[in-house]
Amino acid sequence: MIPLKDSYKHKGLRKVLVKTLREKGIKDESVLEAIGRVPRHFFIQKYTAEKAYEDTALQIDAGQTISQPFTVAYQTELLNVRPGITVLEIGTGSGYQAAILAEMGAKVYTIERQEELYRKTSRFLAEMGYSSIQCFLGDGSIGLKTHAPFDRIIVTAGAPSVPQPLLKQLRKGGTLVIPVGDEKVQKMITVLKISEKEYEQIELDAFKFVPLIGESAW
Ligand code: SAH
Repeated sequence: MIPLKDSYKHKGLRKVLVKTLREKGIKDESVLEAIGRVPRHFFIQKYTAEKAYEDTALQIDAGQTISQPFTVAYQTELLNVRPGITVLEIGTGSGYQAAILAEMGAKVYTIERQEELYRKTSRFLAEMGYSSIQCFLGDGSIGLKTHAPFDRIIVTAGAPSVPQPLLKQLRKGGTLVIPVGDEKVQKMITVLKISEKEYEQIELDAFKFVPLIGESAW
């Protein structure tokens, strides 16, 4: 493998990206700092550096996409990440979102249903030294019971509705962030778990994700 290089050019491109995200309304400095630190071009090596730092979604393996940086920043900001919290991510994909969360000090459990992506990304994240990220292969629409409850849950694929198992596996006081809608468009939803029976749901902006496929999904 060619050794990966993070040069001044890449750092410069990240600075421009952070500025763009700030202009688009991202305010959480810890999110912007993490985006400024994580070398996105490592996660999508078939693209040029310029392309890797554009604010766009890009195709990765197995017909999936790495989310647009704005979307990553938007979801991460909603999660209100603090060092030491546990986060379950559904849809590992390239591993970029997981790396952003780890960079912010979270302990990350991430689950991917496509074996090819799971294998490639889990190996890559380990090589990158992300020891606070644990990768799992399986259907994340039913959560990850063995490691529940989680302080936060983030779903990076579009769901037809809020999967009930995920609400169960959320710690009291925790937040779930998930895009919910049809195949064409989804609204970002945050659900705050007040108690086992009480939840506060907020509907936010529209996005377009690849579908969440599974038992509690499409
Ligand atoms: N967070 C990723 C973006 C992933 S795109 C990143 O930072 O690159 C969404 C991913 O969700 C795809 O890889 C898709 O295979 C996966 N996915 C879809 N349904 C899933 C499910 N039920 N469980 C786990 N992963 C799922």
